[in-house]
Amino acid sequence: MSILVLGTVALDNVRTPYGERNKLLGGSAAHFSMSSRLFTKVSLVATVGEDFPQRHIDFLQQKGISLASLIRAQGKTFQWSGEYKGDLNTAVTLNTELGVLASFKPKLSEEQKKIKYIFLANVDPDIQGHILPHLSSPKLIVLDSMNYWINTKRKSLLKVLKKVDIYVANDQEARSLTQEDNLIRAAKRLRSFGPPMILIKKGEHGVLFYSDKFIFSLPAYPEDKVVDPTGAGDTFAGGFMGYLAKAKTVNAQNIKKALAYGTIAASFNIEGFGLERTAKLSMKDLDNRLAEFRRQVLF
Ligand code: AMP
Repeated sequence: MSILVLGTVALDNVRTPYGERNKLLGGSAAHFSMSSRLFTKVSLVATVGEDFPQRHIDFLQQKGISLASLIRAQGKTFQWSGEYKGDLNTAVTLNTELGVLASFKPKLSEEQKKIKYIFLANVDPDIQGHILPHLSSPKLIVLDSMNYWINTKRKSLLKVLKKVDIYVANDQEARSLTQEDNLIRAAKRLRSFGPPMILIKKGEHGVLFYSDKFIFSLPAYPEDKVVDPTGAGDTFAGGFMGYLAKAKTVNAQNIKKALAYGTIAASFNIEGFGLERTAKLSMKDLDNRLAEFRRQVLF
């Protein structure tokens, strides 16, 4: 296994100007896996409730994702309800029901403890922190979070941030955690919280990477078919980490290429509801669009 992802597997209720869908298979770990699976083996750690349909489990398995640590617990599956309006850049959370997530204590197998590339997808920061001491030799730990946890578990989030290599945030989250409006200043402040590398996603405006050694910025892929952005951030992270895990070396050149793969993976995600589009995605689709993107970005 080359990537371990801890996060949510959820039932999402989503409303966008293009329609409404209820109880869609979603969650940070599910969206992340759907793009990272194209690069490498992915082992998913999460919990679902008794109400979670078996067909979703079958579907994730068919996509080659290892579900050895997907625990079915007594209670209800985590549910998120959200809405996007206007330019669809910002999700408005209508409701979050933690269900079985409230009592989730992830357990890793001996094999999983040896995995070197770790993605702590958006989930309770106490749960993210819980697995860290069990990892035997992590090479790269990347963490994502969300306003919900920034607002309710800020202290725990700041504690776990000290132990990760890359913090991935969207512009809103970066501003909310640092109280800085300027994103470079926000990135510097986030750097002072511990993680040596900071990655700020700006929706349709692209992505900013900040480290002491270099800053790198990429626009988003110009996309006019934005149907549902849910999971775009996780799909981005899946492409980004998938490439790095496959490349096996974390250096400036590979980070830049990984950012480009993340950008392209996310551009597909937003073209359909939930996992609709990314479930059909192939490496060839990614590479073809990446070649087109390269021509658009370089002159
Ligand atoms: P993204 O659009 O990439 O930020 O992620 C959207 C996914 O995150 C959805 O599929 C949700 O199920 C999941 N999600 C929403 N709120 C939370 C939360 N508070 N904790 C963990 N996952 C969440």
